[in-house]
Amino acid sequence: MNTYLDSKVRVDFPILSRKVYNRPLIYLDNAATTQKPQCVIDAISEEYQSVNANVHRGVHYLSQKATELHENARERVRQFINACSTSEILFTRGTTESLNLMASSYGEAFLKEGDEILISEMEHHSNIVPWQMLCERKGCRIKVIPFNEKGEIEIENYEKLFTERTRLVCVAHVSNVLGTVNPIKEMGCIAHAHGAHILVDGAQSVPHFKVDVQDLNCDFLAFSGHKVYGPTGIGVLYGRESLLEQMPPYQGGGEMISRVTFEHTTYEKLPYKFEAGTPDYVGSHALAVALDYVDSIGMDKIHTHEQALTRYAMQQMSQIEGMHLYGTSERKDAVVAFNVGDIHPLDLGTLLDRLGIAIRTGHHCAQPVMEHYGVEGMCRASFALYSTQSEVDTLIAGIERVRKMF
Ligand code: PMP
Repeated sequence: MNTYLDSKVRVDFPILSRKVYNRPLIYLDNAATTQKPQCVIDAISEEYQSVNANVHRGVHYLSQKATELHENARERVRQFINACSTSEILFTRGTTESLNLMASSYGEAFLKEGDEILISEMEHHSNIVPWQMLCERKGCRIKVIPFNEKGEIEIENYEKLFTERTRLVCVAHVSNVLGTVNPIKEMGCIAHAHGAHILVDGAQSVPHFKVDVQDLNCDFLAFSGHKVYGPTGIGVLYGRESLLEQMPPYQGGGEMISRVTFEHTTYEKLPYKFEAGTPDYVGSHALAVALDYVDSIGMDKIHTHEQALTRYAMQQMSQIEGMHLYGTSERKDAVVAFNVGDIHPLDLGTLLDRLGIAIRTGHHCAQPVMEHYGVEGMCRASFALYSTQSEVDTLIAGIERVRKMF
């Protein structure tokens, strides 16, 4: 059986046929954002062309149609991550906003001075900084879940961190640098056994394999639409209904209220309580179209394809002289971070760019990971459903070429 997807899928993504510096584009920066299939691009322009109207408030035809698309999108997201109810699906601007919503609103409802939050050492800054800001406001404390040289969290080290003050665990499902797939189910069981909740940053997992919030038994999950072939500016926070019910609104404004007087305001029911202002109703619909697209290819096939590509890349790249690969766990997904000899990542990235190869360089919004390995930055190649083995070969040839220049 061929483990790779048919490269015909590439024709669905118009940008992939463009050239940069007169060379075919090799786009390997998919962990930062994915390219968009034509159906998503069309959904955006079609909605603006023929349906556009503000949602929820209107009695008129277009408003009802736009509302239908927006609420159908919520149902589509619910199915995609297998949440129990659409009340548990909050639309946000992306993972970052979802995590800020959590720090603000969960923090208000559940955290007191002296409480402890466990955050992994491999988190993206967006799952660190909002919690630090909260700790400064409330006098809570962050404890760091370490990872080992392979880039894995060791369960014994994790469990040791719990005390009677531990309230919440914040952890990436997949690291955006190391690619490690963390054992969320096990970590969640341990958190629950200690009376704590678990918040999963799904920014790098939802695009790559089936994420089922009921099966994972997580309390919260955040992800971004633009990393799963959808548009920018739309994201999701899943939350267990019983917990969301206890949390205060994040922002105040239109849409999230039931009744307003100057003396007092009562709030809308879930999920609207958390969605102040005009939502990105075009973005939500386009996200639903992106999820339909993913399902039409098949998440399992995408996963198999990307796993094979990741393994191939790791294996081939390890042959390059001076290659240092970060994150060597067996449970690794679609991300390969590396440095070559003492070539500065920025130099390598810039020279590869001139060959038409787009990779990411720098600290990847995960400076504690850089600190762990004692480096300023890394190069990162990351894959999507349209990435091919021959693109990996071109990357490797490009790295060899640059290496010989130094
Ligand atoms: N968490 C992880 C693991 C990520 O990879 C990213 C994006 N690089 C984010 C959070 C933030 O996502 P966004 O910028 O879409 O809010």
